[in-house]
Amino acid sequence: MFDKILIANRGEIALRVIRACREMGIASVAIHSTADEDAMHVRMADESVCIGPAPSSASYLSMPAIISACEITGAQAIHPGYGFLSENAGFVQMLEDHGITFIGPRAEHIRIMGDKITAKDTMKALGVPCVPGSDGGVDDVADAQKVAAEIGYPVIIKATAGGGGRGMKVAQDEKGLEVAFRTARAEAKAAFGNPDVYIEKYLQRPRHIEIQVFGDGKGRAVHLGERDCSLQRRHQKVLEEAPGPVITDAQRAHIGQVCAEAVAKISYAGAGTIEFLFEDGEFYFIEMNTRLQVEHPVTEAIFGVDLVRQQILVAAGEEMEFQQDDLSIRGHAIEVRINAEKVPGFTPCPGRISQYHAPGGLGIRIDSALYDGYSIPPYYDSLIGKLIVHGRDRREALARLDRALGELIVDGVDTTVPLFRDLLQEPDIQSGNYSIHWLERWLDRKY
Ligand code: ADP
Repeated sequence: MFDKILIANRGEIALRVIRACREMGIASVAIHSTADEDAMHVRMADESVCIGPAPSSASYLSMPAIISACEITGAQAIHPGYGFLSENAGFVQMLEDHGITFIGPRAEHIRIMGDKITAKDTMKALGVPCVPGSDGGVDDVADAQKVAAEIGYPVIIKATAGGGGRGMKVAQDEKGLEVAFRTARAEAKAAFGNPDVYIEKYLQRPRHIEIQVFGDGKGRAVHLGERDCSLQRRHQKVLEEAPGPVITDAQRAHIGQVCAEAVAKISYAGAGTIEFLFEDGEFYFIEMNTRLQVEHPVTEAIFGVDLVRQQILVAAGEEMEFQQDDLSIRGHAIEVRINAEKVPGFTPCPGRISQYHAPGGLGIRIDSALYDGYSIPPYYDSLIGKLIVHGRDRREALARLDRALGELIVDGVDTTVPLFRDLLQEPDIQSGNYSIHWLERWLDRKY
């Protein structure tokens, strides 16, 4: 087992990893930018190293600075968290060259899944059902029109290098296709340096259902059921729950097995998420994320497992602590993302926290790097905490969430907390009757 792990991240996810390390008796090293000198992850880690100025490009994304920090502190492995360098195959390769272990999958798998066209081809070949669309990339308007006519409108044009909900354009008919195609390519080129796009059928009212998988890197893999992440704004998740309110045990067992077998076949190592759109009882693969997800705690709650601990074990060459038969679901869990943002525009709201009080009691988990007097810097994303509740069933989880949100105090900045309290009053949320478009329509009506 490792003696020391460096966490190449900040905020709540850095704390999450430090906590797992501490329980495993592993020393932790925090890295931070000059803007994060007073951040909680720096305070909580056993050691810390300042790796550069505030902009992420010069600090949390600076591979040479991070590798130097490893060498100075003697850390043997790096946990990347999510975002930043977590899905950067070049970084993983560089670590390998320096004899540092990456806590995550092999570079090859990150590379395959990081390119959505290759990912889809690979998944199709592994027997995973995909959204109907172009086989591979689409290079010109004429080609796009041909594919769209075949699969039928509306269609969505997606960047193969896309991520974070960017690089997607919907075309309702042939008239709109040319503009959508050209804008998607231009945006993809500007945002990701790669203009390649592909086409998919645009599903009208799907749910976003993702399957958590975990592989030992030696050909064995399990699934840990699904998360329903349909409540989205601009393709960004806002609330997640597990199990999915409309997924049956038989559907879970079937798609779970398909996913576990797919990742077992490629000897995938560590945590991964296979994302699907789900409509009329059918699953359609959209992408795979080769890292720990923001919303992993809802899965941890209902399965009673520590996913970060398993990641560390597998990276160290040890066995994961469960097999498929050991995994069963207990109760229902919901996570809400608390962002420092002003609703309804969702404009970021950095600033000083004048008062912070976390809720407590049965079935409550808070993953947050906030504290009284903390100043949220303007340089990074606006997620300041996650509130996760666990109950015996969905009704209890919803009641507990409302209760916990009532106890939570975050003064000094605007947050998404009032939005969640409003949402919980909605009959559709109470009954679980929502697709990926529900939230945006509700926001338009409400504000
Ligand atoms: P990203 O990597 O940017 O997150 P994804 O491929 O995971 O992109 O898609 C993000 C979201 O975009 C999905 O959760 C869904 O809301 C929407 N989306 C993607 N593909 C389709 C599609 N074919 N039909 C309808 N909505 C889609």
